[in-house]
Amino acid sequence: MTDIWQATLSDLETKVSSHNFESWFKNIQFHHQDGKTAHLEVADEFYKAWIEENYLDLIEASLRSVVGAPMDVVIGIKGAFDEVTPTPAPAEPPPARTTSQTDLFASMGAAPSQEATAAVEMSFPELIVHSGLNPRYSFEEFVAGPSNQFTHAACQAIADNPGKTYNPLFIFGGVGLGKTHLLHAVGIEVLRKNPHARVMTLSSEEFMNQLITGLRQKDMNSFRAQFRNNCDVLLIDDIQFIGGKDSTQEEFFHTFNALFNSGKQIVMTSDKSPKELPGVEERLRSRFSWGLIADIQPPEMETRLAILKKKAETDGLHLGDDVALLLASSVRSNVRELEGTLVRLGAQANFMNTPITLEMAREYLKRMNIEQTRQITIDKIIRIVAEHFGISAADIKGSRRTRAISEPRQYAMYLSRKHTEHSYPEIGRQFGGKDHTTVLAACRKLERLLPNDDSMGHLMRELEAQLER
Ligand code: ADP
Ligand code: MG
Repeated sequence: MTDIWQATLSDLETKVSSHNFESWFKNIQFHHQDGKTAHLEVADEFYKAWIEENYLDLIEASLRSVVGAPMDVVIGIKGAFDEVTPTPAPAEPPPARTTSQTDLFASMGAAPSQEATAAVEMSFPELIVHSGLNPRYSFEEFVAGPSNQFTHAACQAIADNPGKTYNPLFIFGGVGLGKTHLLHAVGIEVLRKNPHARVMTLSSEEFMNQLITGLRQKDMNSFRAQFRNNCDVLLIDDIQFIGGKDSTQEEFFHTFNALFNSGKQIVMTSDKSPKELPGVEERLRSRFSWGLIADIQPPEMETRLAILKKKAETDGLHLGDDVALLLASSVRSNVRELEGTLVRLGAQANFMNTPITLEMAREYLKRMNIEQTRQITIDKIIRIVAEHFGISAADIKGSRRTRAISEPRQYAMYLSRKHTEHSYPEIGRQFGGKDHTTVLAACRKLERLLPNDDSMGHLMRELEAQLER
């Protein structure tokens, strides 16, 4: 295949990591162009959703830079566009307006439709996708921290020994905290260790839909067989959706029993603990509690920073510490949102051919109505205190002990301890390499004086007001 899409692919290849390029972009097929809209095809629903959610902006930006004009991209699953394609008749003369670059697509024609090759021996990536797993959701891509450590460890133990350690594993927690990611990581790891393991991944809604199809086609035997006889590891996402659906629960109950009794591993995720699942029968809720129940909490600052750094690295984005700090401190409750912020900023930066700047990040957060946590750093404190007293930052970091300098220095140390998360030794280090006992003494002194000294209290509030700006 030619020209524009190839050029776009080459461009994309420079903008994402090679891992991502291989997983997501390489197999996208150009199908046809319709005015300013490029229609692209991917293998399945999962790819489509993933690309739409994460890479649409990036693809459009690349396309735009290649074509030289704005282009929209529509993603379809293989075959989706076949009927609607205005296939250019090969005998037709080339369009007269060859000057318009956007028309170049038209001359490319439709991509040769790939014959569905019956995969006898699947490669590892094929195996992953075939098992309903997202290759990105591996343990390698997961950042463990205090908020998810327990669940992370349980998942690793299960992946090492499916069916033998905790069974079932029930993971619960809020939206966008990595439940699905860990669920898939189990599947990927199981397959890595044993490519012959039969891993099935589906949401409880998909389970229900398959059940309905089975009922409609009066083919309940094969519905049951696929779970009961063809599955070693069953990964069910968002089990809470079976609440209130009686026949689904009935069927799931039997599936659960059959798998459990033959020592097959079951892992489920949910937004609530088994006890709190509304509309789920007691016999299921009690079964969900038979093994291990593990919850995931929102990540702490450190973990959020580590997640951002990891994602930036995977996506080949340059992410400065200041920007990372701003994003991690502003987007707090949901990793998906944190990640989405980075992806969009990354796409914007790629598009403008610059790194992600603080300004861009601030602008973006403002647009998204995300309150920006003020960044109070030791440097900022030193600068503001120095300005206020008419001395220099170097004075504060230096070793002179005249009162005109040592007093502001103590204020700045006190404010650093109060308004940043740095330890005494770290504050000492940033104050030109002072001992932590010096910092401690300054903090103690001001804590003692402040409650009884109105003018000092007033001064502190004034400095703090400046810090918040
Ligand atoms: P949930 O299923 O809990 O709603 P997901 O598993 O879909 O959340 O996670 C949302 C996004 O955040 C995914 O892209 C996932 O890769 C990412 N994510 C969540 N937690 C982590 C983590 N600890 N390390 C790396 N990525 C994470
Ligand atoms: Mg999920």
